[in-house]
Amino acid sequence: MRKLYIAGNWKMNLVPSEAAKYAKELAAATKDAKVKIMIAPTAVCLPAVAEAVKGSKVIVAAQNVNDHEKGAYTGEISCAMLKDIGVTNVILGHSERRQYYGETNEFINKKVLFALANGMDIDLCVGETLEEREGGKLEKVLSDQINIGLDGVTPEQMAHVTIAYEPVWAIGTGKTATPEDANSAHAFIRGLIEKKFGKTVAENQIIQYGGSVKPSNVKELMACEHIDGALVGGASLTLDQFLPIINC
Ligand code: PEP
Repeated sequence: MRKLYIAGNWKMNLVPSEAAKYAKELAAATKDAKVKIMIAPTAVCLPAVAEAVKGSKVIVAAQNVNDHEKGAYTGEISCAMLKDIGVTNVILGHSERRQYYGETNEFINKKVLFALANGMDIDLCVGETLEEREGGKLEKVLSDQINIGLDGVTPEQMAHVTIAYEPVWAIGTGKTATPEDANSAHAFIRGLIEKKFGKTVAENQIIQYGGSVKPSNVKELMACEHIDGALVGGASLTLDQFLPIINC
């Protein structure tokens, strides 16, 4: 039985004082929640947010991490730095990092391997652009993102990997994939996981949907067989939007 996993990617929003206040409210409001909950504030907010949710059900993730232990990598953040402040999760391969910062599947794979080897849990984002979908490239894009992104990962390490299927055309646009389209992409991803890691890993694999998830559409998405949670952007920024999604 796969446990529902609801995550909020705060992107470059909220200053540390706002983030800590909201995180504290969220932790208090979700103490009886049945689902797994994660929030990913921007790096500068991580220490305050990690402190604010200490002892609660809320997991804190970084939005990115470097693939080296330490050294001359200006502007970067290491796994050790995250772990030192109690952050053990990280989002990797988000479409905004692929699109604006040129992150390739191969580069993301280096970070995936490094983060896993350093004891972090990861949320690997995959998804196609509208052009790729309309050009009939959906399966090829997802296959490359999964097969290259997870190259070298062991079946045992997959217990620390969540996949987030986020069609790029649905992120921040208000357009949501239909539950049928989303479910069929999730089923395809589960098939890729089965081919690469075997049936048991595939059956246990948590695959979140992301792309304009909101209180009004979350129930029908989460009711789909292969959708095991959500990675939420815009609607994770306020308690009145995020809480109904968590309680869906
Ligand atoms: C995201 O960027 O991960 C996301 C899903 O954003 P939104 O919910 O705003 O579409």
